[in-house]
Amino acid sequence: MTALFSALLLLIAAYVVFDRRRHARLRAACVAAFEQAYATTSPLPTFEMSYSYGEPVFKVEFASKEAMQAAVDANAAFLRAIATLCKDRGRKRQFKAQRAVFFRHPADDEPVVAHCCDTMRAQVGRTIVYQDDMRRYALKTSVVGTPALPIAHCPWCGSQLPPTA
Ligand SMILES: [Zn+2]
Repeated sequence: MTALFSALLLLIAAYVVFDRRRHARLRAACVAAFEQAYATTSPLPTFEMSYSYGEPVFKVEFASKEAMQAAVDANAAFLRAIATLCKDRGRKRQFKAQRAVFFRHPADDEPVVAHCCDTMRAQVGRTIVYQDDMRRYALKTSVVGTPALPIAHCPWCGSQLPPTA
């Protein structure tokens, strides 16, 4: 019994080592693919590789939206390389590079505006006009050509809204 147990432990240890080696090899290949795809891109985006449900996922972050758009060819080349390298890595479904590589820029992380209540959140863009740059709320009118009426309190929960600048 003890012998069987030790054999099992050994097998698990061997698998862990095998899996780590496999991961290290794939990682090295993906880093090389990144360096090749972005060899002429300046400034160089940052690269991160991790796993989500056993599938490799990648984050390529650019300094700005413009830098990301300028690198369209490099991004396409990187997607092709990742698709080839990871094609057998889908555990439950076929691996798709488009689903696993995330191209980002800092503006993507801008915080979403927190409105006062669920009704307000649902009505912004419908009965409520919200001006993000001025944090100003206004009520749409049904009279064509009449500007929206600025409001100081939420019509649903009564919260005070930011003062109009
Ligand atoms: Zn409210």
